[in-house]
Amino acid sequence: MSKVKAEPFKIKMVEPINLVSRERREAALKEAGYNPFSLKAEDIYIDILTDSGTGAMSDRQWAGIMMGDESYAGSRSYYKLVESAQDITNYKYIIPTHQGRGAEQVFFPQFIKKGQDVIGNMHFDTTMAHIEIAGGHAVNLIHDRAFDTMTPHPFKGDFDLEKLESYIQKRGKENIAFCIITVTCNSAGGQPVSMANIKAVSEICKKYAVKVFIDAARYAENAYFIKIREEGYGDKSIKEIVREMFSYAEGFTMSAKKDGLVNIGGLIGVKEDEEVYRNTRSMLVPFEGFPTYGGLAGRDIEALAVGLQEGVEESYLEYRIGQIEYLGKRLMDGGVPIQYPTGGHAVFVDAKKLLPHIPYHQFPAQALANELYLEGGIRAVEIGSFLLGRDVETGEQLESPMELMRLTIPRRVYTDRHMDYIADCLIAVKERAASIKGVELEYEPKVLRHFTAKLRPVK
Ligand SMILES: *Cc1c(COP(=O)(O)O)cnc(C)c1O
Repeated sequence: MSKVKAEPFKIKMVEPINLVSRERREAALKEAGYNPFSLKAEDIYIDILTDSGTGAMSDRQWAGIMMGDESYAGSRSYYKLVESAQDITNYKYIIPTHQGRGAEQVFFPQFIKKGQDVIGNMHFDTTMAHIEIAGGHAVNLIHDRAFDTMTPHPFKGDFDLEKLESYIQKRGKENIAFCIITVTCNSAGGQPVSMANIKAVSEICKKYAVKVFIDAARYAENAYFIKIREEGYGDKSIKEIVREMFSYAEGFTMSAKKDGLVNIGGLIGVKEDEEVYRNTRSMLVPFEGFPTYGGLAGRDIEALAVGLQEGVEESYLEYRIGQIEYLGKRLMDGGVPIQYPTGGHAVFVDAKKLLPHIPYHQFPAQALANELYLEGGIRAVEIGSFLLGRDVETGEQLESPMELMRLTIPRRVYTDRHMDYIADCLIAVKERAASIKGVELEYEPKVLRHFTAKLRPVK
């Protein structure tokens, strides 16, 4: 019998959480316009809206906070960060930014000519926005199996290599600005990309002189999946795997709020191109700040220097990925349909399967998230037609290929006992699935409506 492994940390500081009464939850959800984004955190017991910047820092990181050097230029903490990030990526040039989208805004426009495409497995939404603001088009070339939630595959974040090559040939390499590999692929459910696929993408792009960059928010989780799932990597250290991943690209942007294990921060890395580095540094100044602080306080930089190293510790990643898998298994055992196998940072519940009686325009995954809040004070998030929005030209509500509810687990924050609670609540919701009603829009802002829209239950 295999032994249970416990969390590889003990808890030194606690933050009380509180489950408010059912009556209060009903009132709070109504006040929030049946949109969990508008709930007050105070009314939430377990918050699994996002894993971005919501993790717990270690004692060593908090010690770093006290050691931060707040010099405007040339801070000691900056040099520590550069050394730490160089150690992990083997890249020559490292530039701090305030978060991932800051990195995207500064780095990408220099490579995009108006009308060009930026190809990727599946772009994250802020990445797509910055590509489009710069006059480019974001094109997703992920393998179709990513959309099949129930058929297992170890690397559902992989590019479809045939699609990639034929797309470059069809569009012409001069119409392609660059290629972004997102690891793990957030928009496809935190699904990993194999080393073989990263390498093949890099080779295809090289053939057509297309630059390759990495969107590296979850680089460490991706490396762990490669270690446990891909042949030939079982005996390699996470750091070795991470370095190999980065070796196939020329640069990266990173939201450090994920695997960097900090509450705020980001990075740009340039492997060796000095001109690109110089350009990027000069663009950093008007947007983020002087190149040695990039929109961060010295203490944040110090915490990130430590967090990057903790993020690649194998015991941490084993716990991290294991916790997601554990929640997924509890849900599957309870008959809740989820995307399988589970990815790096979240469990995705298939609301289309769970609530087949609710049509896409009544947002089944949003209705499910609302029920989960009522059941247990848990805040999850809809990734489906409500998030997708309307056709820009016709104003018609678009139908998302998948209606998912994401249970996104913050790093080092909740124990497996919290996972049991989440699973029990969702299984209880499943038992009364047939009685759950859809929701409809009451108020809808023009852009990024899902953050602030108000809804109401369908009569
Ligand atoms: C979070 C994230 C970003 C954006 O980073 P922020 O720190 O939220 O600005 C970009 N790409 C991916 C894959 C992400 O997960």
